[in-house]
Amino acid sequence: MRINRVLRFGIGAVAVALAATACGGGSDTASAADHVREGKLTIGIKFDQPGLGLRNKDGSYSGFDVEVAKYVAGKLGVKPEAITFKEAVSTQRETLLENGQVDFIVATYSITDKRKQSVDFAGPYYVAGQALLVRSDNTDIVGVESLNGNKKLCSVKGSTPSQNVKDNHAKDVQLQEFDTYSLCVEALRSGSVDAVTTDDIILAGYAGQAPGEMKVVGEAFTEEKYGIGLKKGDQETRNKINDAIEEMFADGSWQTAFETQIGPLEGSTLTPPAVDRY
Ligand code: GLU
Repeated sequence: MRINRVLRFGIGAVAVALAATACGGGSDTASAADHVREGKLTIGIKFDQPGLGLRNKDGSYSGFDVEVAKYVAGKLGVKPEAITFKEAVSTQRETLLENGQVDFIVATYSITDKRKQSVDFAGPYYVAGQALLVRSDNTDIVGVESLNGNKKLCSVKGSTPSQNVKDNHAKDVQLQEFDTYSLCVEALRSGSVDAVTTDDIILAGYAGQAPGEMKVVGEAFTEEKYGIGLKKGDQETRNKINDAIEEMFADGSWQTAFETQIGPLEGSTLTPPAVDRY
């Protein structure tokens, strides 16, 4: 009886796995433009970055990147209900686009020349900068100049901040790389690393979730231009996304999305970056 149950469970699991592959788990040869014509889109976002891309407990999604994704999809003629959000961890972003597993990616994705060899970018729609997150009681890490003395620093595989540490601070710190920033933040809270490094806006989101426990320190020490990643060579969709980003800047939705998702600007204004139509 027992064995029978286990077997049946086993067979069920295989059937589910096959079904999942058949409906979009693997590569997809249809282009983003094809999907738009069908009125649907699969968009890669982060699932664990508060304020930017977050999968909530009730299964809904929120954050500035999610708002940008929905706005752009809307301008392409795709309703929010017809968007499938898929987790795009930093190190998998190029592969997800190359394999057609997502139509585009809005996931704190910096535009770089290296990435442009395999994917294209619309935007930028925001400019962030690399910074450091430490526990609130830490007094010896005050900025990039404190990256010395073999301190333990956490960042994410396949990210530009991690690459920057490898290129410029490898001798001075011990770098620990995880797949997501939420794992780095756990390591920081438990005391197994001294600091987390990535973009200031991402770190501020984590600090805001645990008031009094963690703080962002120092000035931003790189420029991270956030683009919307898409399959290389899809000029048609890229042009349309660039148009949508410019409309989002112009009609006030971009600033509203920032204020509702990241925080009030308290009287100051946010200047949108210039879209780069390369
Ligand atoms: N913006 C940086 C990058 O694209 C860091 C943030 C992230 O990993 O998503 O690599």
